[in-house]
Amino acid sequence: MPHVTLSEIEEAARRIAGRVRRTPVDLSPSLSALAGVPVFLKHEHRQITGAFKLRGATNALLQLSPDERAKGVVATSTGNHGRALAHAAAAEGVRCIVCMSSLVPANKLEAIKALGAEIRIIGRSQDEAQIEVERLIAEDGMTGLPPFDHPHIVAGQGTIGLEIVEDVPDAATVLVPLSGGGLIAGIAVAAKTLRPDIRILGLSMRSGAAMAASLDAGHPVEVEELPTLADSLGGGIGLANAWTFETVRALVDDIVLLDEAEIAAGIRHVYEMEREIVEGAAAVGVAALLAGKVAPTGPTVALLSGRNIAMELHRRIINGADGLEETD
Ligand SMILES: *Cc1c(COP(=O)(O)O)cnc(C)c1O
Repeated sequence: MPHVTLSEIEEAARRIAGRVRRTPVDLSPSLSALAGVPVFLKHEHRQITGAFKLRGATNALLQLSPDERAKGVVATSTGNHGRALAHAAAAEGVRCIVCMSSLVPANKLEAIKALGAEIRIIGRSQDEAQIEVERLIAEDGMTGLPPFDHPHIVAGQGTIGLEIVEDVPDAATVLVPLSGGGLIAGIAVAAKTLRPDIRILGLSMRSGAAMAASLDAGHPVEVEELPTLADSLGGGIGLANAWTFETVRALVDDIVLLDEAEIAAGIRHVYEMEREIVEGAAAVGVAALLAGKVAPTGPTVALLSGRNIAMELHRRIINGADGLEETD
């Protein structure tokens, strides 16, 4: 069973130090009062590029061979992984191409370009863009780095687990946003190897939770992708998943699913009580505490994983919207 190890995560921490931010952990008085136990927030939304994915991308880039570095990296993600890869590649002087369909909104395209990546517009769907990625890998020898199912990506994200155990040594429960599982797999290996009794809970949106459906089925399955406030948690885990499914199955204690209105309430709470702006994917831990869907048994850490939300959507939620749709 392929697992990333604690020593690989510790090596990743040394490798990426100075290139990524060590983010703060703060006690949340409002959530502690609500939960009856100390609740801490890990402010990973303040990571460079606005999400934790810079950790994995940097760890993977730094392990490319000289030949791979010379030929560059390629991806299709226009979300937090694409941003992270673009930034990390530019920082290392490595060529990075992000392939996207002509339907990707201009602001997303500009954001990736501003981070230093080359943009290639191919076709009208993600699948057509993926064909160009495969061509660049096969014909030009570029390296494709996936968003979660890769040992160097998992090890990079796992460095968050080391920081949580260091900053909250008596943490009993860690609440982790869950999509493809690179984040939670890395954190679970780090935290459970150092603190075998720690509980690791994964949180996803109710609509289109691919990892939860795959665990129920006993193997990776596809689910229908539906619009959600937690857009960074959308997408499948890959039918040929090699690195995250088994680790999640072995180490994650439970998975909690959140409704859109609960996620919206989480975003509002983080804004109003913590004075922080987070995206829907990052608000799921707070949302689960507010909804009473997790029973904290001791000091609890909720990971705020990113802040890349369209500000117009954020304003609507702060003004009371309970989902993506316009109210009234
Ligand atoms: C990618 C992402 C996640 C989920 O990470 P996985 O490794 O796919 O489980 C959670 N939050 C944010 C903000 C993300 O960008």
